[in-house]
Amino acid sequence: MMVQKIAIIGGGIVGSTAAYYLSKDNYKNYDVTLFDEGIGQATKAAAGIISPWLSKRRNKQWYHLASEGAALVAKIAHDTNMDEQTYANDGTIITRDDQASLDELLKIALKRKEQAPEMGDVRFVSKDEIKELIPIIKNSPFDGLFVPGGSRIDGQLYCQHLQRMAEQRNLNCLNGHVTLINDHKLKFNGKSFDFDKIIIATGAWSKAILSDLNINLNLRPQKGQLIEVKVPDDIEHENMPVMMPESEYDFIPLGHGKLIIGATHDNDQGFNLDSEKSVEQLLVKTADNLISNISTNDILLSRVGTRAYTYDFGPFFGVIPNHESLLIGTGLGSSGLTTGPLVGKFLVDLIKGNYVDLDYYQKPINTYIN
Ligand SMILES: Cc1cc2nc3c(=O)[nH]c(=O)nc-3n(C[C@H](O)[C@H](O)[C@H](O)COP(=O)(O)OP(=O)(O)OC[C@H]3O[C@@H](n4cnc5c(N)ncnc54)[C@H](O)[C@@H]3O)c2cc1C
Repeated sequence: MMVQKIAIIGGGIVGSTAAYYLSKDNYKNYDVTLFDEGIGQATKAAAGIISPWLSKRRNKQWYHLASEGAALVAKIAHDTNMDEQTYANDGTIITRDDQASLDELLKIALKRKEQAPEMGDVRFVSKDEIKELIPIIKNSPFDGLFVPGGSRIDGQLYCQHLQRMAEQRNLNCLNGHVTLINDHKLKFNGKSFDFDKIIIATGAWSKAILSDLNINLNLRPQKGQLIEVKVPDDIEHENMPVMMPESEYDFIPLGHGKLIIGATHDNDQGFNLDSEKSVEQLLVKTADNLISNISTNDILLSRVGTRAYTYDFGPFFGVIPNHESLLIGTGLGSSGLTTGPLVGKFLVDLIKGNYVDLDYYQKPINTYIN
């Protein structure tokens, strides 16, 4: 068989997972190059929560993608021996201010569990139990539900891990900006390179890179910022669940005295990557009634990234119509760590000629491309 030359543009969760799947079965049939600029990458900035099962989003196709995506993240973590810093399955707690909402969520969970057993046995947790599970929280104002299957990943470590594995087989990684010359040719570092197939995994920047080929995407950027703060280290509780209060910021305890608070959703700042002091203050303030004595002095770092959104919040992926050698996966919004791995795998399935029932997971791709 002829070796196919494949380019992946973008080294976030979609591109890195695609590289991993191209390095698995029949990898000698593929010669793969991953180009990544890395600036503003959503994957690297993300909070890392994987827990889609209780979402009240009505879009069924999105739910199929997210629930199967969450299962795939767990499988990849297991198959590739990810360490606890990269992937941790410590559960998630979702709180609500009234019992009726919790009852309704529990009902959703029980129904969905038939199709998604990996969410585990979802159960009711009182304010006191929440404090026991997450001792850095001095006091939870509300009761909640505990979802044992919930997990968190470190997006940057996840991508590095999969890229390093693929590099041992058929992947070459190059750092820098790429432009497209035509459906088979791209420009990098002043030189042009030819490929049989090109995977566009450029997140929020996909509209920009494809505009050179007069392909217009329905896609917009959204800025997200979060902070990592120092909290008291409790060596008996290094593994704590993530806490997701309703319409508030999430709390992601990393253990070892570190906690992530975030993230914001700002639609008015385009691709701006400045971390804002006012946002840091706001995030600390929301944590103030949950955690004792926290102040802006405890901030260890701020992370900013750009998410990609379509008009109806639906991700899209597949071969670009009328451009057989170009594949794309983007528009993952605020749940891309959950859906991105499956999107990356599907793109590789399409390259390998494996059947994927795309309609089960998304609207027709030309809804988002013209
Ligand atoms: C603050 C924040 C918190 C989040 N929290 C969560 C969460 O808890 N759970 C969850 O599921 N999702 C979360 N998300 C969403 C998730 O991070 C994204 O949906 C997902 O990471 C998008 O992955 P991607 O591979 O499509 O794009 P990205 O990760 O953005 O990667 C695209 C890459 O392409 C590169 N690139 C672009 N153009 C070019 C070019 N021309 N040449 C070379 N390289 C290029 C970029 O530099 C970048 O590295 C969060 C996002 C943010 C910003």
